Amino acid sequence: MKAAFVRCDPSPTTLMIERRVFLNSSTTHFPAAQMSGFRIPRERMVERLRDHYGIRDVRVLDAMREVPRHLFVPDALQSRAYGDHALPIDANQTISQPYIVARMTELLELNDRSRVLEIGAGSGYQTAILARVAAQVYAIERIGDLAREAQARIRRLNIHNATVKCFDGTLGWSAHAPYDGILVAAGGPEVPEPLKAQLKIGGKLVLPVGAVREAQRLVRVVRTEQGFEHEDHGACAFVPLIGRYGWPNEQ
Ligand code: SAH
Repeated sequence: MKAAFVRCDPSPTTLMIERRVFLNSSTTHFPAAQMSGFRIPRERMVERLRDHYGIRDVRVLDAMREVPRHLFVPDALQSRAYGDHALPIDANQTISQPYIVARMTELLELNDRSRVLEIGAGSGYQTAILARVAAQVYAIERIGDLAREAQARIRRLNIHNATVKCFDGTLGWSAHAPYDGILVAAGGPEVPEPLKAQLKIGGKLVLPVGAVREAQRLVRVVRTEQGFEHEDHGACAFVPLIGRYGWPNEQ
C-alpha cells in the first residue's frame, strides 16, 4: 500500500522556531544498543571511502564510522545499508550513496564552530553526519512525513545540535543565516539565489545542478569578498529539487 505523504506549508515565515539549548556535537554519545549492530560492514565502508574514494578528512571518516546508517533505511534493507550505493526510502526518495555523503561533507570544509544549512534531509542520515562535524545543523525537508521521521531518528540517537523542519528549502532559512556551509541533496536546474545570499564570506555551498533532471554536475560555490567562485566536481545523480528556485512540482 502506498502511504499518503503530507506536504507542508512552503513558507518559512509561518514557522514557529523553537529555542533550544544545543549541545556541541562532541558531547553526543550514541545509545550503545543502537550502535551494536553492523560494526564490521561500517568499518569496511569507511576503509572503502578512504582507500578507494580518497576521502581524507579524518573528522568526516570518523562521523561515517560513528553514525549507524542502518537505522536510517527501511527495516527490510538494513543488511544493505553499508553497501556502495544509494537506497530507496519512503515517498519515492533516496538515501544517498555513502561516498556522496562523505564527499559533499568534505567539500564543505567544516569545523566544530561551523553552522550549516542542509536542504533535502530525507532520512536524516546526512543531517546526523553533519551534526558530528559541525556545531549546529539546520535541516529542511519538503515532505512532512520524512521531516518528522528524520527529526525523531536524530533525537533517538541523542543528537541535539540538529533540527529538521518542513518547508521549501530553495528559499533557504534566513532566520539562522549566514551559514559557513550549505548542502543540497537534490538537483535543480540552477543554483538557487537565496542560498548564495545566505552564505558567509568564505562559506561553501555544495549541490547538484543540471539543465535536465537526469544529467547533473556536483558543484561547489565559494563566496569570496569579490563574489562567487564555481567549481565542478563531476557527474552525479540526485532526486529532483522541487520548489520555487528548483523544478516545478509535476504530480
Ligand atoms: N540527504 C538525504 C537524501 C534525501 S533525497 C538522506 O541522507 O537521506 C533528497 C530529499 O530532498 C528528498 O527527501 C526530497 O523530498 C527533498 N527535497 C526536494 N526538494 C526539496 C526542497 N525544495 N526543499 C526541501 N527538501 C527538498
